[in-house]
Amino acid sequence: MTRRASTPLSISAQRLIEELRRAGIADERVLAAMGRVPRDQFVPAAFLDHAWDNVALPIGQGQTISQPLVVALMTVALEVTDRHKVLEIGTGSGYQTAVLAPLCRRVFTIERHQALHQESNKRFAALRLGNVTTRYGDGTKGWPEPAPFDRILLTAAAAKLPATLPDMLAPGGVLVAPVGEEKGQQMLVRLRRTETGFETEELGAVRFVPLVEGLPRNPRRQGEAAST
Ligand code: SAH
Repeated sequence: MTRRASTPLSISAQRLIEELRRAGIADERVLAAMGRVPRDQFVPAAFLDHAWDNVALPIGQGQTISQPLVVALMTVALEVTDRHKVLEIGTGSGYQTAVLAPLCRRVFTIERHQALHQESNKRFAALRLGNVTTRYGDGTKGWPEPAPFDRILLTAAAAKLPATLPDMLAPGGVLVAPVGEEKGQQMLVRLRRTETGFETEELGAVRFVPLVEGLPRNPRRQGEAAST
């Protein structure tokens, strides 16, 4: 952050950061990271006018880029530091990944829609995010090779948290996830791995697209349907 401290934030970025502050986000590292991620590069051209608004927006495949306030709340809840190896499930547009990248050592991120996975790869390359590793696959299975992780973040709501994921946490590790049915109540939950097991906290009601097990049956046809 000091590296680019001399670059002033755009007016749109400043406005968004002020809105997040007014909504109660006080973590300066998270606010600085969010001010510097160009959200306009993560939304479809049709929504450019709203790129810096504090709203969720469609990104194709029936998915959404999360609302900035929710990204801020989840990033704060994750208590991430520059020593941490982070697993994110649900890359989507890649916006949350790009917010995490400057705050941690490395982000591993998984997406089950091939088209979203590929688009996010292009964005990470354009932004030169050297500490992001991506995978096209089913995140409910976790990512065994680089495990354990210091932090795990789900950006899609699990009706029930897949048991494999807490097991991939390092000792003292933290997992943050929306938990609940697609159309029912969802709660942002924080799990902390202790010496003896797991501690759970409920952080507040949220609304997310569902975590879906497995890969889309026919990615090509889904992509065509979503673009009409
Ligand atoms: N963090 C994203 C939010 C995207 S919405 C952003 O800021 O843009 C959640 C994403 O989770 C969607 O792209 C959806 O396809 C993905 N997802 C749902 N179930 C998944 C699974 N089992 N594995 C990987 N990704 C999944």
